[in-house]
Amino acid sequence: MSAQPYDPDNIFAKIIRGEMPAFKVYEDEHTLAFMDIMPQVPGHTLVIAKAPGADMFELADEALQAAIVTTKKVAAAVKQAFDAQGVMIAQLNGSAAGQTVFHLHFHILPRNAGIELGFHAREMADAETLEAHAARVRAALANG
Ligand code: AMP
Repeated sequence: MSAQPYDPDNIFAKIIRGEMPAFKVYEDEHTLAFMDIMPQVPGHTLVIAKAPGADMFELADEALQAAIVTTKKVAAAVKQAFDAQGVMIAQLNGSAAGQTVFHLHFHILPRNAGIELGFHAREMADAETLEAHAARVRAALANG
């Protein structure tokens, strides 16, 4: 259980309901993927479950399974789109672990040797860059 109750007005719940914009790359019945607006590396993408749940312990197993399967699919596209040598998947549970948005999500971070990660949730990228990066991921997903 997380320390606080699930807030249905958290930023990702608003994105799911279409009340907040996002640079979307993938959507299905159970999951949604979009660019992180404060990327730690170019191509930093998030996958969220559509079901409410602050973290992995609060979410039903079926929703968690859908989220990790979408993460695998989108991570392959991100790897291709950003010509990455590796891909890091991160998922934080609780503020003590660094979680800042309390709706289950996986981080997809394309990695290349010698390129360090930026700070977590620190610096906003510009909209033009995020849209260009989202287009690259969408194109890679379309290519299979
Ligand atoms: P975490 O700290 O694991 O909860 O990660 C939350 C992530 O959401 C951070 O990397 C933030 O940069 C990112 N973020 C916050 N608000 C938004 C938003 N409106 N759209 C996309 N990403 C966001």
